[in-house]
Amino acid sequence: MTILHHLRQPRGCLAFLFAVIFCTLSAVMGSYVYSACQKASANYTKLVSDIMLAQQAAPQLREALEEGSSRQPNNKHIEYIDHFIATSKQHLNNIQTNIERDRFLTSNVNYLINHFSELDNRLSDLNQQAREVHQHPELIEPLQRGAMKVGGSLAWLYDKLLEEVYTMSSQQSLVMQRLSIAINVLLVVIIGAAITLSMAVIRLHRQRNVMHQLMLTDELTGLYNRRHLVNVAFAVLTQAQRDKTPLSLLLLDLDHFKQINDTYGHPTGDEVLRQVSKKLRQLSRPSDTLARIGGEEFCLLMPNTSTPDALQVADRLRREIEVSELGGLNLHANPTISIGVTTGYGGSLTFEQLYSFADKALYQAKSLGRNRVESLLPPIAKASENAEKAKNYIHSLIS
Ligand code: GH3
Ligand code: MG
Ligand code: MG
Repeated sequence: MTILHHLRQPRGCLAFLFAVIFCTLSAVMGSYVYSACQKASANYTKLVSDIMLAQQAAPQLREALEEGSSRQPNNKHIEYIDHFIATSKQHLNNIQTNIERDRFLTSNVNYLINHFSELDNRLSDLNQQAREVHQHPELIEPLQRGAMKVGGSLAWLYDKLLEEVYTMSSQQSLVMQRLSIAINVLLVVIIGAAITLSMAVIRLHRQRNVMHQLMLTDELTGLYNRRHLVNVAFAVLTQAQRDKTPLSLLLLDLDHFKQINDTYGHPTGDEVLRQVSKKLRQLSRPSDTLARIGGEEFCLLMPNTSTPDALQVADRLRREIEVSELGGLNLHANPTISIGVTTGYGGSLTFEQLYSFADKALYQAKSLGRNRVESLLPPIAKASENAEKAKNYIHSLIS
């Protein structure tokens, strides 16, 4: 049931198809390689040299019978025939053993195997005849004719065998050629697959980095987004708790930004956001985290920063934005920002609590006329010396 269920899924179907193709290819390749190995592994050198040696026996006998001072059959001729019978039997035996050792060869010359036993029998008969001739030398002529006939049959068998062996060895070289082509193709395929796989991995890695970047950054300004800020805040708060250090948080909001949109249009508003973001990034320290957390709202998280230092930074940012010209926009007046500042000591507050204090400070800055910095410190910080200094600093800014 579960297999059927998986097969009905597109992925299951693909996997099944792949498995079938893989099995078929493996079976085809396996049988080809098996037969190729059989063909390629055969060594015909010894067999060919044995056959060629055996082929010499019949002509040698003919020559021996025909030469000599006397053309009349004699005892010497009987000796030649005895020798011929003995060597031919031995050759026949050797060749047959050689053939039977190789299964591939045996299956190819199977139709000749009967001739081996038949010729062996004929040689045995001839041997018998030769023994009789030793007692009755007058019977030598039929023995000579019989030996020549057997020699002829042996010659035919050896010719046939050589023919088969040559055919098989040419098949063998063809198989070797194909195997070497197949190995080269396989190498190319493997190298191709490795390159493709590496490229896919590199591409995936790049895509993952881009996705990661997209997940953490704001598309319009390239600053970090709220998600990243929250993650960083968690780590920074833990560190502040461990080191007992202050952590300041700034909330920055563009003043009357709606009017900029209404007066110059939304695309100009976007460009203002881009340029202000760039400026803020240039002005903030690398150890601080700047993020766009809303439409025209930014947050600067400053680890290991006391309130007076945070107020100094905030006022520097405010002034820089107020005075720096935005390129190519032709605004009647530079945009301004209001900033709310707060500080948590030793990681005593959560990010949400810090945010809430900074938000209230920002609200105060807005209600007190905008383009200004206000701070609101948690009770514990208010008691500290730093808080006192901070208050003095705020008063100096207001005045
Ligand atoms: P305030 O000084 O009180 O902050 O006034 P404000 O006009 O800046 O604030 P308000 O909240 O009334 O308006 C914010 C405007 O910011 C409204 C919204 O259309 C605009 N805004 C938000 N996101 C984007 C953005 O991505 N691009 C542009 N061009 N405008 C945006
Ligand atoms: Mg605003
Ligand atoms: Mg706002």
